[in-house]
Amino acid sequence: MMHGGQVLYLHDVLYAPGIRRNLVSVIVLLGLGYELNFYGVCMDIVLNSVCVGTGYLLNGFIVLNTELDGFNCSDGCFSLIASANNVNVDVNTWHARLGHIGQDRMNRLAREGLLGSFNKIELPVCENCLAGKTTRKPFGKGTRAENPLQLIHSDICGPMSVKARHGASYFITFIDDFSRFGHVYLISHKSEALDCFKLYLNLVENQLDKRVKALRTDRGREYLSDQFKELCDEKGIHRQLTIPRTPQQNGVAERRNRTLLEMVRSMMAQASLPVQYWGDALLTATYVLNRVPSKSVSSTPYELWTGRKPNLTFLRPWGCAGYVHDPSNKYGKLGARGKKCIFIRYSEHSKGYVLIGENSDGSVTEIESRDVNFLENEFPKRGEVDKDIRFYKLDNLIEDSNLNTPLDVNVDLSGTSVPSGSEAPLEVNIDLPGTSVPSGSNDVVET
Ligand SMILES: [Zn+2]
Repeated sequence: MMHGGQVLYLHDVLYAPGIRRNLVSVIVLLGLGYELNFYGVCMDIVLNSVCVGTGYLLNGFIVLNTELDGFNCSDGCFSLIASANNVNVDVNTWHARLGHIGQDRMNRLAREGLLGSFNKIELPVCENCLAGKTTRKPFGKGTRAENPLQLIHSDICGPMSVKARHGASYFITFIDDFSRFGHVYLISHKSEALDCFKLYLNLVENQLDKRVKALRTDRGREYLSDQFKELCDEKGIHRQLTIPRTPQQNGVAERRNRTLLEMVRSMMAQASLPVQYWGDALLTATYVLNRVPSKSVSSTPYELWTGRKPNLTFLRPWGCAGYVHDPSNKYGKLGARGKKCIFIRYSEHSKGYVLIGENSDGSVTEIESRDVNFLENEFPKRGEVDKDIRFYKLDNLIEDSNLNTPLDVNVDLSGTSVPSGSEAPLEVNIDLPGTSVPSGSNDVVET
């Protein structure tokens, strides 16, 4: 029975209890005289000018809106119409899904068969990347840790020129030296560094059933507080403080922050979201970076951290449109045809996506769902979107400037100008948007 009460009778069916979803052939339906009318991702099935049912596109299938025994079974009884599958993703879409990482990294993924049918990537010039990238200084190589949690790098970046939508103006990163798996927390004040480190320790020590042995940071005041020292003493964590004016000593953390900000700027150049969404973009970039190879690790950070290969087919371009269909999501039913939303980050505690949907009064609701049909080439606007975004790290306060080492990281989203204060030390903090966004950890990146 279709949603809406019409009954669609199927003849000559095969009984296949091993298949989790029922499949209906589009070709057979057409042969029986049905018409399929599409508008956007939605579809009507029409017979003799009467609409007998509806469906929508999802992951390369058309999903029928059906009901069985009076309950909506779109998430349980799975009626699908088979169609072409989801292989026709082009290079540019993969590039966007991967947060605008470079061709070399994409080729490493392609060689491992993680980018669908591609085994070699030739990336066309990407204007969003041109807008997002800063020039890089090479960093020397140090000795590498041999086990996870043997050495953690941390750095604070900020304040940013624009606060994230829930108030953060800094972010703090923690990167495992061995795997280069990273976690990022958005914060409003540098003083939150201690709490973030406690959260991080609890999380990773429990997850890996190992203890953090050493922490490398610069001499930022927030890392030098008595409380920070006490925590490390209590936990037996060896401190490695970099010598002032030699930023390469803290190179792993600082490079990570720079890479993250470059990705954020490229992602924001492509999307149409307000610059206040940089916190969401940053968490997304972190998530992606943990799943792609870097120069410094043999496979991906995710694999070294979890022992499993990352599933890249789950990735979607930041800021693209998506129709949310999951009727069981906590925000209630969104209607059979779904609601058009904007993808803003991966969900932290489950395998799903976080999107924003606009309410009729113009306010925004965050929706978490794994049942989303994406339009990966469409980047909708919301509210007033200022594409001429100025987003960069502000100069550090004087109190810090003689403690921290200068880093020439400039983040200017407009891509036009780099603040001349590029000699200022880098420290950024970001706060996570949103209520449902635990200022929690997401993965981070590596260069
Ligand atoms: Zn790009």
